[in-house]
Order: sequence, then C-alpha cells, then structure tokens
Amino acid sequence: MHGHPGGVAVPEFDGRFTHPCHFLGRKQTQTIDKSQIRHRIILSLLAPGRVPTAGTIEYDIAMTDTARDTVILGSGCAGLTAAIYAARANLKPLVIEGHEPGGQLSITTLVENFPGWPEGIQGPQLIENMKLQAERFGAEFRMGHLVSADLSKRPFTLQVGSDTIHARTLIIASGASARWLGLPSEQALIGHGVSSCATCDGFFFSGREIAVVGGGDSAMEEALFLTRFATKVTLLHRREQFRASRIMLDRAIAHPKIKFMSNTKVEEVLGVEQKEVSGLRLRDTVTGMESTLPVSGLFLGIGHIPNAKMFAGQLDLDDDGYIKTRDFVFTRVSGAFACGDVQDRRYRQAVTAAGSGCMAALEVEKYLEEHGR
Ligand SMILES: Cc1cc2nc3c(=O)[nH]c(=O)nc-3n(C[C@H](O)[C@H](O)[C@H](O)COP(=O)(O)OP(=O)(O)OC[C@H]3O[C@@H](n4cnc5c(N)ncnc54)[C@H](O)[C@@H]3O)c2cc1C
Repeated sequence: MHGHPGGVAVPEFDGRFTHPCHFLGRKQTQTIDKSQIRHRIILSLLAPGRVPTAGTIEYDIAMTDTARDTVILGSGCAGLTAAIYAARANLKPLVIEGHEPGGQLSITTLVENFPGWPEGIQGPQLIENMKLQAERFGAEFRMGHLVSADLSKRPFTLQVGSDTIHARTLIIASGASARWLGLPSEQALIGHGVSSCATCDGFFFSGREIAVVGGGDSAMEEALFLTRFATKVTLLHRREQFRASRIMLDRAIAHPKIKFMSNTKVEEVLGVEQKEVSGLRLRDTVTGMESTLPVSGLFLGIGHIPNAKMFAGQLDLDDDGYIKTRDFVFTRVSGAFACGDVQDRRYRQAVTAAGSGCMAALEVEKYLEEHGR
C-alpha cells in the first residue's frame, strides 16, 4: 500500500491505532503501530485559522509488508528474462538472486549457441547484459535465498533469510544444480575442461580424448553424444554394476569410440596450474591401485538436483524433484509459475530457459489483469 494521507482523532496516542484503509484494493480496518509508520507523524498544528484538535494526528503511512506484483526466484537466464518482460510491463519485479547469482552460466566460459552472438559470448558477460537490461526497465535485485514459502494464501508469503516478502504472483526460476564430484581440482577447472553439459561444451573437444563420469542413463547419453566430437570417450564408474537402462548401456558398449572403466574413482583432475585439464588421477575401488588417464576434458554425467525442495507439498514435483508444469509454465497453484531448468529436465539450455522465463512473465501479466493488482 502506498502513502495514504489522512487524519484521525485519538484522545491519547499510545503507539497503536485503528483506522479504515484500502489494502490490496479492498476497504478494511487496519491496526497500525509506530513501527509501521515510516514517514511522519505530525501532531496537528495545521493551517492558520484551523483550530487544532487536541491529539489529532496527521500521518503518511508506508506499510512495511507491501505485497509485490511479482517476485522472481532466481537470477539465471530464466529469471532474468522473466525480469526483463515483467519490468517492461511495469510490474517492478523483485528478483531474489539466490546462492548462485547469475545461475549456471555464471560459472562457464564461452557460450557459442545463444542466438545473437556470432562469435560467442562469455557466460558471465551474457548474464551481466541480461541483468542490466532488466534493471534498465526497473527490475529490483536482492541478494538472498528463499528458505520457505506459503503458497496456500494470497498474497503468497516468502521467507528470504530473515525477511518476509509478500507477492501476488511468483515466478520460480530456481534452476537445477549439476551434481559435481566435489573435488577442489574439479571445481577449479569448471569451464576449463570440466563440464556438466555435453550439449553445451562437447563441440570444444573436437579431435580430443575425454572422460565421462557416471553409471546411469545421463552418463550414457552424454558419452554417446560426445563421440561426435571426441576421438575417444572413457566412461568412468565407481561401481561394477551400471544403473543405466539396458538399451542405453548396450548402445554405449557397442560404440567403438567408448571405453568402459568400472570400479574406478576420480581422485584428482590434473591441470589446475595450467588452468586446463590435462588428465585424471584415478583409483581402482577394488585394488586401491592408482593410475593416470590423459584426457583434455571431464564431463559429469551424474545428474542434476532441481532447486525446488522448498515447494514440496505445495506444488507437484516429479520423482526427481523437478516442478511439474502444464501448458509450459503453469503450476498447480494459480499465480505461481515455474520456468527454466527447475521444471525442464529435457532441454536444459540457456535459450530454452530464457524462452520459458518470457512465457512465465507474460502469464503473470495476464493473471494480474484478470485478478487485479
Ligand atoms: C558448466 C555449464 C556450461 C553450460 N553451457 C551452456 C551453453 O553453452 N549453452 C547453453 O545454452 N546452456 C549452457 N548451460 C546450461 C544453462 O546454463 C542452463 O540451462 C541455464 O542456466 C538454466 O537457467 P535457469 O535460469 O533455469 O537456472 P540456473 O541458471 O540454474 O539459475 C538458477 C537461479 O536460481 C537461484 N536459486 C536457486 N535456489 C534458490 C532459492 N532457494 N532462492 C533464491 N534463488 C535460488 C540461483 O541462485 C540461480 O540464480 C551450461 C551449464 C553449465 C553448468
């Protein structure tokens, strides 16, 4: 609710009073106390000629818990595209940046498949451009992480750290985090030979030897895809048995460029000093023997974790935790939309995330037109 000048007569001001007001378009009685009056309280001594009434207070209120038209959860390409559209529609979106401001593209290097950049563009630069574009139209950004949400009542209540935010609509663009091995050397070489996205980075390994870690369908799919570029793909799996479906496993086994190494764990990614992967230090999980595998790239095929746990029980999630949507971006709760990798286990690309971010923002506009702001 915006500032609302008025007057109220109270015999004694004890720090709290009740008055009629308009809130979310409806007339209702509001009890306020000092802490909610942000701008001014002036004991009346008004214009000359007017007899001041003892105890009359003139006030100008700004409620601390104003509901936003829309809050966008996540600052990856889905969230930022939604922010551009929502800001251009004058909805003054609030973007909660989360634990990884800029999302997955902020940890990669060259992006060659985002339309409009014939020479390619560095991931962090692409993200920065999107953010500037959204800010130019009035999007507001806040550092913070959503810890819980109540989507059962309107406006929605979002707990971001110790702050409570109310929102008439919500765009969930919280992405999916790739599972990593967690080795310091692996983390240091992300974007320099270590990747979790074969579709995105396979092209950079034309004519090279690479390794893929994993034992499920994602790993088989990545390995098969990478044979288009690499001369040899070594599939590393720490167990004897593979979780992959028979058909995917058979396809990978039959491929002449794919070599299997089971019972094998990656201990270290080599090349940190040169900032370029040069090989892997491996350990046999049965014999404990160490060996070195010279490769130029390491791809993780051990899956993704959708950042949607905080909506469990309120939205429909699939078996792996992705938000289920219908008609692209609609969730089970009206007014709450999901876009990007948090609801897309199939394509997981910057351009598809951006596309669904646009859809979510357009649906928010439509929703607010129909249900009022
Ligand atoms: C190494 C790598 C290279 C890639 N290269 C390419 C490429 O070349 N081309 C391409 O098209 N795609 C590429 N991708 C894939 C692409 O980055 C993703 O498809 C895209 O980033 C998905 O966008 P998103 O906005 O849905 O999610 P993300 O980018 O994952 O962003 C999610 C956002 O949500 C925030 N968030 C999460 N949880 C919370 C919470 N609880 N509260 C608040 N905020 C939260 C995070 O901080 C983050 O800002 C690559 C991915 C990786 C990992």
